Amino acid sequence: MKNVAVLTSGGDSPGMNAAIRAVVRTGLYYNLNIFGVKKGYEGLLSNDIKKMNASSVGDIIHKGGTFLKTSRSEEFMTENGRKKAVENLKTRNIEGLVVIGGDGSFRGAQTLSREGIATIGIPGTIDNDLAYTDFTIGFDTAVNTVLEAVTKIRDTSTSHEKTTIIEVMGRYCGDLALYAGICGGAESIIVPEDPLHIDEIAGRINKGKERGKLHHIIMLAEGAGDAKSLQKDLIDKTGESARISVLGFIQRGGDPTAGDRLLASRMGVKAVEELLKFNSSKVIGVRNNQLFSEDIDQALGKKKALDTSIYSMAEILSL
Ligand code: ADP
Repeated sequence: MKNVAVLTSGGDSPGMNAAIRAVVRTGLYYNLNIFGVKKGYEGLLSNDIKKMNASSVGDIIHKGGTFLKTSRSEEFMTENGRKKAVENLKTRNIEGLVVIGGDGSFRGAQTLSREGIATIGIPGTIDNDLAYTDFTIGFDTAVNTVLEAVTKIRDTSTSHEKTTIIEVMGRYCGDLALYAGICGGAESIIVPEDPLHIDEIAGRINKGKERGKLHHIIMLAEGAGDAKSLQKDLIDKTGESARISVLGFIQRGGDPTAGDRLLASRMGVKAVEELLKFNSSKVIGVRNNQLFSEDIDQALGKKKALDTSIYSMAEILSL
């Protein structure tokens, strides 16, 4: 293997830059030619592929987003689109590709590997919704971003003696709501993995009021239900109109935490080393703080489960 490319695809996440940097520098360390592809799979189609050197990735380790840019490409999903992508890679003799993204991007990598391009995936998403790995790059930063917001909202919630519903991202995974909820001392955490128990939440609000609690923070994962209908149900059950705060895209940006920079750097190095071992159609993961690689098919076939030990802890701590 002599020529390797790297791209970021799908939703951006903090730490993607650190991962690109690690891929580029590791490739150069092992005397490979490294190419950066702009705008994910779209750049493979439009041939927006540039050779990189050590300076190309200077001064980016601390920045959120992805300096290679990212996209969602419909054309790449078609056979003709992928043919064009493979041609553009082969013209430059690029034999290996590192794809940094989520499950959709991994599916794209899987199809490319079937067409003769060795692919390795690095998990980059704030949602932590990939079952095969304990953590994805960007999740730790997003937890901290949400936590900062919760801490601020809590001041107002306490001052006005109000209940606040904070809606956070995560798609169909409750990890972001759960981790930020535990760290922010939320009274209720609602995740898609466990159906919403409205009577339980209303009971907890009423019990809190009886013991003189000044606020009630409800962390609502976006995949677990609608904030407006939760608000309506709570009016019926408690007489109180909770405030709603939808955090939105602030959760995707920001400087990556030390944890995400370290994870991204480790995974970037490992991805290139996998290509050097002639491995393909694999994804990098971390379990019990140890990195590993696994077949994409196998990794994508797993169903993500909520960490029940942490979830049950939320019940104990919100008394
Ligand atoms: P993420 O990687 O964050 O989950 P998406 O699901 O939007 O983001 O996927 C990113 C891109 O990966 C898509 O726009 C598409 O180009 C490519 N992709 C997704 N699924 C497939 C698939 N089944 N086959 C080929 N390419 C895919």
